[in-house]
Amino acid sequence: MTGASTPTHCPYCALQCAMSLTASPAASSAGSADAPSAPVTVAGRDFPTNRGGLCKKGWTSAELLRAPSRLLAPLVRGEDGELHESGWDEALDLVAARLRGIRASHGADAVGVFGGGGLTNEKAYQLGKFARLALGTSRIDYNGRFCMSSAAAAGNRAFGVDRGLPFPLEDLDGAATVLLLGSNPGETMPPFIGHLAGAQAAGGLVVVDPRRTATARLTDDGKGMHVQPAPGTDLVLLLGLIHLVIAEGLVDDEYVATRTTGFDGLRRSVAAWWPERVQSITGVAALTLRRLARRLASGAPTFILTGRGVEQHVDGTDTATAAINLALLLGLPGRPGSGYGTLTGQGNGQGGREHGQKCDQLPGYRKITDPDARAHVARVWGVAPDVIPGPGIPAVELLQSLGRPGGLRALMVHGSNVVISSPNAGAVRHGLESLDFLVVCDFFRSETADLADVVLPVAQWAEEEGTMTSLEGRVIRRLPALDPPEGVRDELWILHELARRLDAPSVFHVRPEDVFEELRLASEGGIADYSGIDYAMLDAGEAAYWPYPRGSRGTPRLFADRFAHADGLARLVSVRVRAEVEHPSPADVLTLVTGRLLEHYQSGAQTRRVPELADAQPEALATVHPATAARFDIRDGDTVELVNSRGVVRCRARLSTDIRPDAVFVPFHFAGLQTANLLTSDAVDPVSAMPEFKTNLVSIRPISEA
Ligand code: SF4
Repeated sequence: MTGASTPTHCPYCALQCAMSLTASPAASSAGSADAPSAPVTVAGRDFPTNRGGLCKKGWTSAELLRAPSRLLAPLVRGEDGELHESGWDEALDLVAARLRGIRASHGADAVGVFGGGGLTNEKAYQLGKFARLALGTSRIDYNGRFCMSSAAAAGNRAFGVDRGLPFPLEDLDGAATVLLLGSNPGETMPPFIGHLAGAQAAGGLVVVDPRRTATARLTDDGKGMHVQPAPGTDLVLLLGLIHLVIAEGLVDDEYVATRTTGFDGLRRSVAAWWPERVQSITGVAALTLRRLARRLASGAPTFILTGRGVEQHVDGTDTATAAINLALLLGLPGRPGSGYGTLTGQGNGQGGREHGQKCDQLPGYRKITDPDARAHVARVWGVAPDVIPGPGIPAVELLQSLGRPGGLRALMVHGSNVVISSPNAGAVRHGLESLDFLVVCDFFRSETADLADVVLPVAQWAEEEGTMTSLEGRVIRRLPALDPPEGVRDELWILHELARRLDAPSVFHVRPEDVFEELRLASEGGIADYSGIDYAMLDAGEAAYWPYPRGSRGTPRLFADRFAHADGLARLVSVRVRAEVEHPSPADVLTLVTGRLLEHYQSGAQTRRVPELADAQPEALATVHPATAARFDIRDGDTVELVNSRGVVRCRARLSTDIRPDAVFVPFHFAGLQTANLLTSDAVDPVSAMPEFKTNLVSIRPISEA
């Protein structure tokens, strides 16, 4: 490679901002000893989602390519208990032999695979196939279970399909009203905010969040609304809005009659959620609820969007379902210029859940229990259908089984730092330590890699090609700007080599384009059908939205005429508030709300290694309301301890009125005693298996540091 500019996309979030990378000749030479320190420059590139803009993370993303802590050779744990560099053959031979041995001794389901929502479509597809054919295990799931699973489950049951945004992002530009529920794109994906400018100018930006976030501050001009419900009461708030829409005659009757089923049951289920009762639980004034319901039903172009704030709960599926019910009653999904959607977080959070990384799915978003789906995928893989294992267990259950009798004895982790990002992180660390064998594929020695028996260093986004699927369901190309350093390998090559050593009964391609061609066939006829997409059309700039059956032109907008259920109708699904998810707050405890910062991404394994980002946000700070701080004798900058039955977090306090007095906010990007997930619960939503990240009770106290 010569130092020419390469058009590609950001390595981080699902907005997949377009960027150009220019690698100096020294940086682009394969295996150069200078490569890690040679410059690679980043420039924003015009694209419908980001319009040339990038956030801090995107601008500094090339720093990771030359980070001094980057792994440049496999690591194998020696008899001294330390990780030592090794050759690739030695490392891969060891992995294959140990996995083979554990499988022989304990059965195939004693070996698990944990994937990630940042992997390309090709890697996600290959990982699912590798688990089921090379390892013969049903035990595969991925970190998207912690991210999109509730919204996905709600979309599937209401619409019969789960595509985060069933419309191009540009549709938001013409909105008069946008209701953002539990989403903070002002920090998590700043270029997205440009798409809210129309609604903001029209006074129709409504942000529902217990925190006064960067996004909520967009309503400070007094034209929009910031609604601050008590943490964990989102479902009650939505049931109250549905009650009002029905009670005040704001329902789009024709739409409900012709495009949905279930209205009568829904009407009965919300009858008791009158505004004053909702006010007493959520703290949101009945007057505000009425104003909001009328605004949403004005008939002007309106969107309802959900994010992790309302989804990452043990009632996350029901909460997302309630948001969809509200949108359906107002006739929004499929109406030109209006709609419902959920904002996917991880870079390939959408594609990552379509190609077989989920424990219950095969490529094409097919159900693994469906005999026709199994037969189709088995044909593509060249095996008998019964060779494909049945459904596995979702991520939290998978992690809870580590080292337990009948549970996992070995785990392969790809593109995930579970020691930081999993709920009840202390128990997860303990489980990983009790395994017979742990393999981690990563760029860096993450906190999870620190526990591994073998660490396999992999190429980064700018050194590989493949495809990603953005939050809009648009498939985009990732092009390599430089060659990887000599000692690292692409994960497709690693899976190929391991599959060969394990005598897998199928071909595992190494070239991304070959894998994509197979993925196209495997997805054909499925919900997420990619069969009409190829690399050449993506390189030519085609905006390819799935479903994209062979011979079609793709589907930028879903639901114009019908929903994906067999009868074409959407389901209004009645949901109720379960007693166990009500959140009483005794005077001596606070509700812990976890979330993200502008400067960091996911577990911080990458962004904590970027000097500009780490300098700006070097540590976790616990945001506490001044009134709460006074109650607990906490001053700004004090070190505080947050404690519950699962663990202890120690960090400094930041006093701010941005948080409610009954809550404390801690970002989840940090390690050691600052790991917020030491306190979060691994109780899960009964439908999606999403854990509870947002409403865990903690006590707080200042401590003096010796
Ligand atoms: Fe990258 Fe997301 Fe930032 Fe865009 S908003 S530059 S995709 S991290």
